[in-house]
Amino acid sequence: MAANRKLLILPGDGIGPEVMTEVRRIIDWMDARRGVGFDVTEGLVGGVAYEATGSPFPDETLEAALASDAVLFGAVGGPQWDGLDFSLRPERGLLGLRKELELFANLRPAVVFEALADASSLKRELVAGLDIMIVRELTGGIYFGEPRGIEQLADGSRRGVNTEVYTTGEIRRVARVAFELARKRRGLVHSVEKSNVLESSQLWRDEVTRLHGEEYADVELRHMLADNAAMQLVREPKQFDVMVTTNLFGDILSDCAAMLTGSLGMLPSASLGAPDPAGFIRGLYEPVHGSAPDITGQGLANPLAEILSFAMLLRYSFDMTDEAELIDAAVSAVLAGGLRTADIMQPGMAKVSTTGMGDAILAELDKRAA
Ligand code: NAD
Repeated sequence: MAANRKLLILPGDGIGPEVMTEVRRIIDWMDARRGVGFDVTEGLVGGVAYEATGSPFPDETLEAALASDAVLFGAVGGPQWDGLDFSLRPERGLLGLRKELELFANLRPAVVFEALADASSLKRELVAGLDIMIVRELTGGIYFGEPRGIEQLADGSRRGVNTEVYTTGEIRRVARVAFELARKRRGLVHSVEKSNVLESSQLWRDEVTRLHGEEYADVELRHMLADNAAMQLVREPKQFDVMVTTNLFGDILSDCAAMLTGSLGMLPSASLGAPDPAGFIRGLYEPVHGSAPDITGQGLANPLAEILSFAMLLRYSFDMTDEAELIDAAVSAVLAGGLRTADIMQPGMAKVSTTGMGDAILAELDKRAA
């Protein structure tokens, strides 16, 4: 890869720009202290893009995304744009990016930092040390399958139709992502579907099993039905390493797993495309949370989800594992030291602002790089 990695930053709306400011400080730190050069471009997306250009996803933003190696996204949306036509809503910016960049694998880690184990809705012993990676298929399945729609029937009633559909290629490419991740983790993949009732799930199970036998026999593969997976996630979550599943089941299970970790302000995510012939993977990285209009501009936003999304970007798109681990370790240490933004505040801890949390992460990075 060229020395300077091309990074497109899209802060978006609400708290997006606030949490992105803290990431930019880390990027500057990486540049100054680790000699890592990034060519950073900033673009418009969401409501701010609509205000400036009349579109939530301007052509310039698409062009900049296609010309970049990775995209770091903030958040989009806000009540002032809720009345707009669907095609102009800020969320179109995000959906447009995912589609145009052909990002088919959504990675949602559910990691419980030791210092936050008490913030989970489950008992500490069930979640302390939890580290799950959910890989959700993002561009197929029932959210996109045809036929779809609502039709009027002759008797005056209506009929709503959606279609759960998967092809061999769609299943294999996302399963491959899961197996590759498991190889770098604890070597276990749970493939989750409903093959007891759905043919598309039976195909899913067949294809995952076939790919496993052909190329990934060193990874352990277990199959689990989606209803059981939901139960197991809250019964004994630490049994999981990597879970791979369909768009619909992944949507639900990843939110369920997220809540095991306690806070929306801590959750990063990645959406990845296929590797190019040189093995480079284009990705879009973003916190799971939205634009949080209720706390915008008050210094209350937790920047850690955006910072951890940047760490994922370094790990998966730029192959900079050392730098990613440095950031993860700094986050862990700052939390262990007792600093908390308001959303994760606990008795006896010290409350800090968005900038205060950024300061603490930078100080910790300094300490570790000294
Ligand atoms: P939200 O995630 O913005 O906020 C939910 C709650 O969590 C709020 O009380 C908020 O203050 C809090 N919160 C979220 N992130 C936080 C952080 N980093 N630090 C501290 N507290 C945080 O979800 P919402 O309120 O349902 O949606 C608000 C807007 O965001 C809507 O317009 C919605 O469409 C949009 N949205 C965007 C995305 C995205 O850009 N990917 C995702 C979800 C929602």
